[in-house]
Amino acid sequence: MIELKGITKTYRTGKVAFQALHGIDLSIAQGEFVAIMGASGSGKSTLMHILGCLDRPDAGSYTFFGQDITVLSDDQLAVLRNHVAGFVFQQFHLLPRVSALENAELPLIYAGKHHLKQRAREKLADVGLAAKALNRPNEMSGGEQQRVAIARSLTNDPIVIFADEPTGNLDTKSQNEILAVLERLNAQGKTVIMVTHEDDVAAHAKRVIRMRDGAIVSDTAAGGGAAAAGAADTPYSLRDYLSPGRRLFGRAHFLDHVRQAFHAVLSHKMRSILSMLGILIGVAAVIAMVALGEGAREAIAQALSSMGTNLLMVRPGSMRLHGVALEAGAVTRFTLADAEAMAKLEHVSRVSPTVRGRGQAVYQNKNWSTTLQGAGVNYAQMKSSVPAVGRFFTEDDVRGRHKVAVIGRTVARELFGDQNPVGETVKINRINVEVIGVLPEKGATGWFDQDDMVVIPVTTAMYRLLGKDYVDSIDVEVEEQTFMDSVEKSLRDLIVKRQRLDPKDEDKFEIRNMEDLQETLKSTTRTMGTLLGFIAAISLLVGGIGIMNIMLVSVTERTREIGLRKAIGARAKDIMHQFLIESVVMTITGGVIGMAIGAAAAVALSRVAGWATRVSAGSIVIAIGFSVAVGLVFGLWPAKKAANLNPIDALRYE
Ligand code: ADP
Ligand code: MG
Repeated sequence: MIELKGITKTYRTGKVAFQALHGIDLSIAQGEFVAIMGASGSGKSTLMHILGCLDRPDAGSYTFFGQDITVLSDDQLAVLRNHVAGFVFQQFHLLPRVSALENAELPLIYAGKHHLKQRAREKLADVGLAAKALNRPNEMSGGEQQRVAIARSLTNDPIVIFADEPTGNLDTKSQNEILAVLERLNAQGKTVIMVTHEDDVAAHAKRVIRMRDGAIVSDTAAGGGAAAAGAADTPYSLRDYLSPGRRLFGRAHFLDHVRQAFHAVLSHKMRSILSMLGILIGVAAVIAMVALGEGAREAIAQALSSMGTNLLMVRPGSMRLHGVALEAGAVTRFTLADAEAMAKLEHVSRVSPTVRGRGQAVYQNKNWSTTLQGAGVNYAQMKSSVPAVGRFFTEDDVRGRHKVAVIGRTVARELFGDQNPVGETVKINRINVEVIGVLPEKGATGWFDQDDMVVIPVTTAMYRLLGKDYVDSIDVEVEEQTFMDSVEKSLRDLIVKRQRLDPKDEDKFEIRNMEDLQETLKSTTRTMGTLLGFIAAISLLVGGIGIMNIMLVSVTERTREIGLRKAIGARAKDIMHQFLIESVVMTITGGVIGMAIGAAAAVALSRVAGWATRVSAGSIVIAIGFSVAVGLVFGLWPAKKAANLNPIDALRYE
C-alpha cells in the first residue's frame, strides 16, 4: 500500500539547515499495525507527517496504492487526507468551544457528507463516549478527549490511522483504553501507524520500526523475527478523489461555515461588539442622515406640489455685469399694471402679484419678527391658503389699500397664544392692521417655517408698509398643464413689449415653473447625497480596518485550529471561505444593529425635534450591501493569510 524510497527532509531555520530524514526506504501493507519508535528528535513525527501527506519530502518517491503522491497539488493532498487518513495527535487538537459530537463531525464537513452526521455519533459510541457526546473538551478527561479525537479520525472511514504519541499526555489507565481501541480498529482491518517512544506502548503493535538520527535502524515483527511480508492489498483507486472537477462546496457546507462563524463571533461577544463598533456607528449615522435628507426632500416636494403644478412665476432676472451680479431690481421692474396685463392673456386663469419683506408684528406686550407677504386676492386659491379661521381679503381690500392681514399659525401662536386673533388689531411695522383670518397649517419644509408669515393686500404692503412702487414677482396660473409653453411664450412677448426690451435681453427677467424648482431641488439633493456618501465611505473605511485587525488576531489565535482543519481535509479555499464568512457575519451584524439605531434616531428626531424624516428601503439595502462589501474586502487579507498556512507549521504553532 505504502512505498517510500530514498525520502529525505531538511529543515531550514534561518541559515542553519538540519537534515531530519536521511533517505528512508519503507513499505507498509494494508492491515498492518506499525509502531515507529526512537528517541526524541530522531525524526519520527517528520516521517509520519510525510506518510500522512501533511508534509512533502525534499527528495525520494512516495507511492500510495500505486499513485505518486509527490506530484499532487496541496488541494489534492487535502482531499486525500480527508478520505484515506485519520489523525490522532499527542495534544488531541480538539476545537475547544464545541461539543464532542461537533468535533467528531468535522471531517464530514470537508468531505461534503453532512448528511452522514449520524456516523459521528456511532463512532463516539464505538470509543465508549455515547453519553458524553454533548460535553465540550474542557468537560472531559484527557483520555476521553483523545477518544473523541480517535472518533473524529474515524468518521470519514479512513484506510490508515496515523497516531503521533497518542498516549504521550495520558495516565496509564487512559493509555490502555486508547491502545485497546487502536488494537480493535486494527483487528477490524484498519491500518494503524503509531509513533511512540515507550516500549510498553510499542508492544501492542505487530511491527516495530526503530529510528535514530533520521534513519531506520531496525524493522522487526512482534516477537523478534524479521518484519512479515504484509498480506496482499485490496485494490483501491484514488482517482475518484483526485479529479480536478470535484466540487465539494455545497449548501450544507456553506451553512456549516455560517454556523461556525456565529459561534466564533458569539464566543467573543465583547470583542466582536467592539470591533463592529466602527461599522455600527457608520451605518447608523448614514441611515439617520439619509432619513433626514429624504424627509426634508419629501416635505419640500409636497409643499411644491400643494402650490399647484401649473404655476409660472415671473420675476426680474439678475444680469451679470463684468462678473458682478447686479441687484435683481436693477434690471427690470414689474408693476401692478404688468400683473393686470398678464391676467388678460389667453389661457391664464389667475394672477397674483407679490412683494416680500420683513415685518415686526406687535400685539400688546408681545413682539414677533416675521415674513411679510403682500399678495393679490387670488393668492388664497393659488397657494392653497384659504383661511382656516376668518376670511381672506377681497378685491375691495386690495383696491382700497385696507389695513387687514391674514396671519400664519406660528405668528398667531406667538402673539395670541390660545386666544382667537380674528378681529384683533396688531401693529406691523408701526402701522395698525386688523387680523381677519388665520392661514391653514402648512408645516416646516426643512429649515423654513411656512407658517411664520403674515399675508396682506399687495397694495397695502407696497404703499403703506414697505414703501415700494414695484412688485417682486408675479405668480401666473395657467388654465391647463398643456398651455404652459404657449402661455410662457406669450408672457415673454408681453414683457418684452411692455418693458421695451430688446428681444435678445432674455436674461433681464425670468419665468420659472415648477419643473425648474424641482430641478434645483434635485441638484441640492444630489450635493447632499455626495456629502453623505463621503461620510459613509470614511466611517466604513475606519470600521473595516477594525474588522481586519480583529480578524488578523483571530487567525493568529486559531493557528492550531486551522492546522487541524487542514490536517483533516480542509482545502485552502475552505479555510478562506470560513474566515471570509466570519468577517461578513461580523459586519452584517454590525450593519443591522447600526441600522436599527439609525432608524430609531431618525424616529426620535422627528418626534422630539419635529424634523421630517423618512427611512427608505433603498438606504437599508445600500447599508447592508456596504456592510457585506466591507466584510469581504477587509476580511480578504486575514482569510488569505489563514488559507496559506502550512498545516504542519500551524499544528506546531505555540
Ligand atoms: P520526533 O522524533 O521527536 O518526533 P521530529 O520528527 O519532530 O522528532 O523532529 C526531528 C528533528 O527535526 C528535530 O531535531 C527537530 O528539532 C527538527 N525539526 C522538526 N520540525 C522542524 C521545523 N519546523 N524546523 C526546524 N527543525 C525542525
Ligand atoms: Mg514527535
